[in-house]
Parts: sequence; structure tokens; C-alpha cells
Amino acid sequence: MDIFQEATNVDETLDPPDWADVGALSHRILDDAIAYLEDVRDRPVWREMPAEVRAFFGAPLPRSPAPAADVYDNVARNVMPYPMGNIHPRFWSWYMGSSNFTGALGDFLAAIQGSNLGGGNHAAALMDSQVVNWMKEMVGFPASASGTLVSGGSMANIIGLTVARNVKAGVDVRERGVGAMPKPLRYYASDQVHSCHRKAVEALGLGNQALRRIQTDAGLRIGIAALKAAIAEDREAGFSPACVIGTAGTVNTGAVDDLQALASVAAEEDLWFHVDGCIGALIAIAPENRSLVAGIEQADSIALDPHKWLHAPFEAGCALVRDASQHRNTFAVTPEYLESTPRGLASGEWLHDYGLQTSRGFRALKIWMALKEHGVEKFGRLIDQNIAQARHLTRLIEAEPALELMAPTTINIVCFRHRLDGASEESLKGFNTEIMLRLQEEGIAALSDTTVQGRHCLRVAIANHRTRRGDLDLLVTEMLRLGQEIEAAISV
Ligand SMILES: *Cc1c(COP(=O)(O)O)cnc(C)c1O
Repeated sequence: MDIFQEATNVDETLDPPDWADVGALSHRILDDAIAYLEDVRDRPVWREMPAEVRAFFGAPLPRSPAPAADVYDNVARNVMPYPMGNIHPRFWSWYMGSSNFTGALGDFLAAIQGSNLGGGNHAAALMDSQVVNWMKEMVGFPASASGTLVSGGSMANIIGLTVARNVKAGVDVRERGVGAMPKPLRYYASDQVHSCHRKAVEALGLGNQALRRIQTDAGLRIGIAALKAAIAEDREAGFSPACVIGTAGTVNTGAVDDLQALASVAAEEDLWFHVDGCIGALIAIAPENRSLVAGIEQADSIALDPHKWLHAPFEAGCALVRDASQHRNTFAVTPEYLESTPRGLASGEWLHDYGLQTSRGFRALKIWMALKEHGVEKFGRLIDQNIAQARHLTRLIEAEPALELMAPTTINIVCFRHRLDGASEESLKGFNTEIMLRLQEEGIAALSDTTVQGRHCLRVAIANHRTRRGDLDLLVTEMLRLGQEIEAAISV
């Protein structure tokens, strides 16, 4: 080894020996990234990985170095061509946003600055709080409310449900645990409630049975009379009704519970009112549809998901709590190594006091940059646009005798299926699943499926700023083509 090198570079670093080389590679990555988004419409939504690509991910732990350009080449070949597909204009599976370039730059810059949002006195921490304040404003929460950015809606719901438990426990549950509660708590939600709530009540030590699923009406909204009856029954049986969870946009069909009615029930019955607004809370910023979520501003806590209808790159969720002291009292702890100082770095607010994480990423930047660039009004219009597109698809389905709408369309989720004359429910499921899989495998469109009121159906969820109406027209045409092809093959 070169003696001079050895003398000056005894300490290793991850920084490159020559920043100029890094510059050239980085510019190439940026150019490729721009081209990737520019051409997204021309690529298949999804495609199966060939065997050699799968095998690539079985490679062992690298022990020695490789040039960064080769590392990028690996990614360009094996990762970028096989995405989940949610950035594609015809991706409508499950429920997720479609990301955005400015947000991606925000994620990059956040990583470059590298700040830890556990808190402290630095700019990223102020921006984190600012974005939470903007979220409060979007849903009509008072300025005195608190909130925190988390990984997604599941964590945001856990935050709200934990505060509810601690406030309603009847004992100091932080100190004494759920075993010391005088009566078992009961939470209520519709039978359409997202599965993360089950995980939440299990993790909170309340148990799955503590979450009562209330029957929904014909519109798949929580039945208010059934809810009241369940609360009365539980009080009679010695339980302590604690929390009602309203869903603003169910994951199955997009049904929106009557939030005003739930707020009244919660007030009358002295329950915590939590809104799972992962899908629909942001409808509050959409001028044409905001009345659908009226009443959300009366909640005690709200979970919402900037990585859905704000299209923040994953991950970004947000929990809001009306009473900031109840929020802090649930999570704040000050260990000796995190005491505040009167000045300097440790003089800022400790943001980890509002949730379960200690170290936190700088999620706010990607949300902040996209909101600044486009303004909240544009995001509101995009939400209205997706809802209008879902209504367009609904009309196409209603006008097409071979297709059948399976649930009312309220927002941006459409549940439907292809008919098959004389077929049993079982064969209809097989037939529609085959259509769905071929749409994916041919790279045309990504839909998912579900079961609504006992019947299997296909499901289109349009939380996508790249979708155009023509994409939905194409979906219908292609479904009819595939339906004919599959039907012909069955009858041979
Ligand atoms: C997506 C969703 C969740 C979970 O949110 P994640 O961001 O996926 O963790 C919870 N509830 C509803 C209604 C959702 O649509």
C-alpha cells in the first residue's frame, strides 16, 4: 500500500474518495429517475419477475466493496423494472397513493440532511410541527390540538386508540396496566372496520373481543341504532364502553359513516370519538365533496394518511388528538439522557413525546415540499377528480349489461363484477379472479378483490393523480375482452 495514503487515511469513512465521481453517477441516477416517471404510462402496471431476477435477491452478504456505479446498475436491472406499480396511472389495487417527484426529492434531501425527528432545536423539527399544524387545519381541528407524523394509518390509529384507552381506563393504566382496570373496556366500529384496529386492540392488551363490530346498513355505514343497542347491552353486562371508531371511507367500498351522528352518540354516552380517516379525512379539503365528511372536526382523535391522497412517497401517516395534554400524558417520558436544556440543541420540543418511536425520520419534508409547490387547493381538486372518475366508472358499469355494480359508490372506490350467466357464486369468484389476474399479468391494470355482503367482487380504488378517464374506459373494454376469452375457454 502507498505509504502516504496509509499515513493520512488511517481512519475510514463512508464518504467517497472523490466527490466528483459521485456527482457524475448521481446526475445519471437523477436523469434515469425523471425518464422513469415520464414513461410510466408506457410500461406495464406490473410484471412477473424472471427466475434470474428472483435469484439475484438470494445473493449472500457482500463482504468486500463494489463500485457505486455497479451497485446502481444492480438496482437499475433488478429492482426498478419490477415495481409494485402504484405510480402507474392504471393502478387501483387496495388503497395507496401514487407518489410524486417533488416528494421524492424531499425524501432525498431529508436523508442528506439526516436529521432525527425525535425532536430538538433544529429546522426539521419546526417543519415537522408545521406540517402537523397544516394537517389540523385541513380537517378543521383547533390550533390547540396536537399530532404526530408516523409511518402510516395503522400507526396513526394505534396512537388515537391508545390515548382513548388511557383516558377511559379508570385507573393509571400507564403505571398499573390493563389488569388493574375496574371494568373491561369496549370499543365500537362498523363491521367494515380496517384490520389495523384489531391489531391495535390486541397490542393494547384489550383483546380482539373488546372491539365490537356493529352491523352496517345497506350503504355499508355503521348502524346508529345498532351501535346504541350494543352500548346499552355492554353497560348492562358490566363492560365500560370507551370509544367509538367512525370510518371516513371504508377500505372495502369507501362508505363514510355518519360522523355527525357518531359525534352525538359519543357525547351522549361519554365515549372517545376516534375517526379512521386514512382514506377520507382529506376529503375535507375537496371543495365538491367535503360535506361527505362533515362532523370529522368533532372527533377526539383522527388518523389520516398523507401517503394516500396527498401522494407522499411511503411512508407518511398522521395522528391528530384534540386535547394535546391527553396526547402527551399518554406517551411522554423523559429519561435522564433526554433532558431538555435551556439553550442549544436540546432546547426544542421532544417530538417523541407524542408517540411510540424515539428516533423519527424527517417525513415532513416530502409532504411540505409537495404542498408548497402545488398548494392545498390543487390536492383538494385532485381528490374531487378521483371521486368524479369513480362515478364515471360506475356509470360505465351500470350501462354495460355484462357488468354488475356490487356496492354503492360513495367516493373513489368501485366494487363490481363481470356477470356469468347461470354461474354459482363460487364460479363467479373464479371467473372474476381470473379476469383480475390476467389484467395484472398482461400489464393492463391492477385491481384487487374483496367480499362485500358475502359476495365476491372486484374493486377499483382510484387514489391516483395520473389516472385519466380514458384509463377507466380502457379497463371496461379490456374486462369485456378478457371475459369473452375466458368464457369461451370454459365452454370449450
Ligand atoms: C390504509 C388504511 C389503513 C391503514 O393505513 P396504512 O397507511 O396502510 O398503515 C387504516 N384504515 C383505513 C380505512 C385504510 O384505508
